[in-house]
This record gives sequence, C-alpha cells and structure tokens, in this order.
Amino acid sequence: MNHFAEASPGAPAAHRTAPAAGTLQRWLTGPRVASLPQGSAMPVPALSFEFFPPRTEALEQQLWACVRRLEPLAPRFVSVTYGAGGSTQERTHATVARLARETALTPAAHLTCVGASAGEVDDVARRYWDAGVRHIVALRGDAPGGEAGYVPHPDGYAYAADLVAGLKRIGDFEISVAAYPETHPAAHSPEADLDNLKRKIDAGATRAITQYFFDTDVYLRFLDKALAAGITVPIVPGILPVSNFNQVRKFSAMCGTNVPDWMGHLFEGLDDDPDTRRMVAAAMAAEQVRLLQANGVDEFHIYTLNRADLSYAIAHILGVRPLKEG
Ligand SMILES: Cc1cc2nc3c(=O)[nH]c(=O)nc-3n(C[C@H](O)[C@H](O)[C@H](O)COP(=O)(O)OP(=O)(O)OC[C@H]3O[C@@H](n4cnc5c(N)ncnc54)[C@H](O)[C@@H]3O)c2cc1C
Repeated sequence: MNHFAEASPGAPAAHRTAPAAGTLQRWLTGPRVASLPQGSAMPVPALSFEFFPPRTEALEQQLWACVRRLEPLAPRFVSVTYGAGGSTQERTHATVARLARETALTPAAHLTCVGASAGEVDDVARRYWDAGVRHIVALRGDAPGGEAGYVPHPDGYAYAADLVAGLKRIGDFEISVAAYPETHPAAHSPEADLDNLKRKIDAGATRAITQYFFDTDVYLRFLDKALAAGITVPIVPGILPVSNFNQVRKFSAMCGTNVPDWMGHLFEGLDDDPDTRRMVAAAMAAEQVRLLQANGVDEFHIYTLNRADLSYAIAHILGVRPLKEG
C-alpha cells in the first residue's frame, strides 16, 4: 500500500498518490542546506552607520533619536551624507560637528566634487579639520539632475580620486571612498571602474564602502576581482534595509543596483502593510548579513535612513551588543 496516499485523504482519488508521494520524496532526497554558523561562533563585526542631514525640525528629532539608540553599539564611525550637488553643505557640517561635540561617536563627513571649485571644497575640508573631524568619505557626487548630467566644475576636482589627493594635501584625514560591486553606471567597463577604485586607494583612501546590493554573490565575486587588481584595503559592504520596496526599486534603477525577482516576490502584496513589510525587511537583511558574515566579512556599513529599528536589529543579529554604562 502506498502510505503517502493516506496523507491526503480529502484529495480526489486521481490526485491522491502522485503529488503527495512526490512531495515527501522531494523532502527526503532534496539538497540539505547547511545552516549558517551561529553568531557566537563568529567574531563580532565592526559597524558603521550612515545618516543623512535632516531638513526639518521633525526629521532632526528623528535623526537624534536614531543616533542615541545606535550610539551604545559603539560603531567604528558614523557618517553623514552630502546632498546632491553639495546642497546640504551647511546641514551636513552642522550635523557632523554636533556628533563630534555631543556624542562619543567618531563622525565622518561625506564630501563631493560637484558644483564647487577645488578651493571651495578645500575650505569645507579645512572647516572639518578645525572642528576635529578626521574622517572624510570622498565622493565625486552626482549632478542635481542625475548621473547623465555630470560635468566637472571648470576649477573643481573632476573625480573622487582627485578629491582624495586634494584632501591629503590639507591634512592626514582618514579617507573612505565608494565602490560598486555591480559597476558604476557611467563606467566604461567593470575593469575601468576597478582601475578607478585602485586610483582612489593609491591617492590615499584606506577603505571602500560599497553601493548597496542584494546579490550577495556579486559582492563576493567583486572582492575576488578587487584583490586580483591589487586592492587590499577593506571593501565594506553597504547594507540597505528595505523598508520601502517601491522606493528602493526606483532608486536602484538609477544607481545600477539589481533588484532580483525574488525580492519583488518577497514584498508582493505588502504595499499597504508596513508592519509586515518591516518584518520581511528585517528577515531579508538578517539573511544577507549572516551570509556575508559566514563568508568572512567582519565589517558592515549600514544605511540607516535615520531610523534605528532595522539597523539595531541587524547589529544585534550580527552579535553586536550595547556597551554597558559606567
Ligand atoms: C558609500 C557611498 C556613499 C555615497 N554618499 C554620497 C553623498 O553623500 N552625496 C552624494 O551626492 N552622493 C553620494 N554617493 C553617490 C556617488 O556620489 C555617486 O555614485 C557618483 O555617481 C559617483 O561617485 P564616486 O565617488 O564613486 O565617483 P568616482 O570614483 O569619481 O567615479 C565616477 C565615475 O567616473 C568614472 N571615472 C573616474 N575617473 C575617471 C576618469 N579620469 N575618466 C573617466 N571616467 C572616470 C568611474 O569609473 C565612475 O564611473 C555615495 C555612494 C556610495 C557608494
């Protein structure tokens, strides 16, 4: 007797045996997936958190609530972005300076080449140096209208590598730069983009932070290629918790990040269900960082979007615990 048939007594006779038998057969003979290592078996990773400068009083409060929640996790540094076209120069500076003044955190200021002469960019960098800020995330930036419209300022730094060299002439900043596992959209080729990354490192950067990605494999392959190209500094994965899938899909199309089909499936039907979406986002980010951790990655940069909950959960899952006071 086929006992599989008994497992689905309600099914019409014609459907009873084959599918049920197939199911259990598949469970018993299908591939076994080894579990990821438990957090306690892995070294506790170093973290950095990225914030954006707030535009309104309400956003300011949201940012500082986020900062205070994440501060006890003792990240290696926290960074503050620079608006497109340099539009947030004052707000970025004010946020970075306040982080330096009022918290135990080490702030890093993003700085771009766009829309300013080299002399003006140097002045901003000197203000950071004078405020005690010693870490800059040096970027080319995008034109306000998007990547296609980028034209270097006639008296400016044309590319991030030029900015890195300029910053090093001003002071001995620690400098991080951007890297693109899926290739920057304007690069002539993946090889040319890697050469560009190498130029930024050779000019004095000591860390690359990646554009966010969802294909973990692509990032790991990128590390192989970077090493083969002679790049030995850490290439820290930028992790974006996906709390708003539709927004992420739009933004990813602009910055060249692939949004795999499985993600669309994962967030399908959740447009009006933010609570479930956040739980799914947490599960997805947890899977990504644990897979990376299992592959030896021990440093993560988290794009917080000025919200602590998902970032805190990711840190916790990675084994990071708050420092005890006193
Ligand atoms: C971690 C991270 C943080 C970011 N933060 C900000 C931010 O705060 N503010 C902001 O506005 N943007 C930010 N960006 C976006 C970034 O400014 C854009 O992705 C921008 O288009 C490229 O900046 P980059 O520093 O990588 O440029 P670059 O390294 O200068 O490269 C830009 C492009 O030019 C090509 N290139 C470089 N040199 C040459 C050359 N000599 N001749 C021809 N082509 C060349 C490169 O291959 C690449 O395609 C961030 C990106 C990342 C990954």
